[in-house]
Amino acid sequence: MTSLSSTRASKMGKDSIYSAIGSELKKAHESKTFKIEVPIDGEQGGNVEVDGKKCVMLASNNYLGLANHPRIREAAKLGLERYGFGMASVRFLCGTQKIHLELEEQIARFLGTESAILHSSCYAANEAFFLALMGNDFGQTGFKDIIYSDALNHASIIDGIRVVRQATKTTDLKAYRHNDFEQLSQSTQDNDGQYRMSVIATDGVFSMEGEYAPLQNFVELAKKRDAILFVDESHATGVLGKTGRGTPEQCGVHGQIDVISGTLGKAMGGASGGFIAGKKVLIDFLRQKSRPYTFSNTLPPPIAAASLEAFKMLEEDNSLVLKLHANTEYFRREIKNLGFKILDGIHPIVPVMVGEAATAMDMSRELLGEGVYIRGLWYPVVPQGEARLRAQISAAHEFSDIDRALQAFQKVGKKLGVI
Ligand SMILES: *Cc1c(COP(=O)(O)O)cnc(C)c1O
Repeated sequence: MTSLSSTRASKMGKDSIYSAIGSELKKAHESKTFKIEVPIDGEQGGNVEVDGKKCVMLASNNYLGLANHPRIREAAKLGLERYGFGMASVRFLCGTQKIHLELEEQIARFLGTESAILHSSCYAANEAFFLALMGNDFGQTGFKDIIYSDALNHASIIDGIRVVRQATKTTDLKAYRHNDFEQLSQSTQDNDGQYRMSVIATDGVFSMEGEYAPLQNFVELAKKRDAILFVDESHATGVLGKTGRGTPEQCGVHGQIDVISGTLGKAMGGASGGFIAGKKVLIDFLRQKSRPYTFSNTLPPPIAAASLEAFKMLEEDNSLVLKLHANTEYFRREIKNLGFKILDGIHPIVPVMVGEAATAMDMSRELLGEGVYIRGLWYPVVPQGEARLRAQISAAHEFSDIDRALQAFQKVGKKLGVI
């Protein structure tokens, strides 16, 4: 027997493990990073009920208001009646129905790619992608691959990269400063010719700032360096662009992104599920190689049917997208007129900057008292001194809802000396 390490810690019995876990939770409470869940009575929507009180919802990703939309509910019901509740299987055993294939085709058509593959979530899809692609040596030896990743990319991209790096030892990571295209461009130039495979990975829209990556630059760079461009459109599909086709549409490069990942759990119905869209040969490969796809259950039929309906609605007409854009413009303009400082932009995520964490906590609590459901973000989620309330506007809002929220903002902002 060899000892693991001469400096290893003493054995933790179950009692001491649970007691250590308890201390961690206490620390989270003390540092005000403990996440509290406020239960909503009834359904998600532009307004929700909390403890019997009607509140304007400014904290959901329900950008198009589809989470409780009559057409989506109806489609989910029909899906349930026609296809049942679940498939009790993964896709390749007996878990594929026509609606799953139709939904995949619909997603690909909408996003301007050749093909698409569903996953149980975008988290799973992102984790799957890097390992499936770079975990494969394609019969070669003595190579290195590299992933260029924005420092503020979503946790699922970070975790996906971590998994493949641990599994392969052949994958390098260059995390470039957030949205610093110059640094990214320079790194790809410095590394030119040194790697077998290069992937550039970015969120289309970043959820803490509500800003988007300038994809026209990314497309050019990926072309120049022969790199695969991977864009996570979770906060963008159904949101950005005149027809809701996301950041590529916004940047004039629709149909030019190599790989798009996204979620069905935000604008596109808000239930759950994710996808990867791209070249057919890559999607076919993922069907063979993605571990979360191979070893985890099929998307439930009611969700597949309702998500399909969400894409069809957007393809038919863009009125919900236009309403979302109009609501967003209205809120952004009026909150500034009240004297609040926001991060400028066009996305329905509107960070209202309040400075200190304590102010953000007090404000969100007082706003809930005034009938506005909103969440604060503070260090370590965002830099110190940049605490904010993150407002998220929806097509489910009417101007009258936004007006009620603005009135509450004015009252609470004055009371706490923010404006
Ligand atoms: C929300 C989000 C995800 C996770 O989506 P799920 O389908 O809920 O797993 C992944 N990436 C980004 C950028 C997101 O905003």
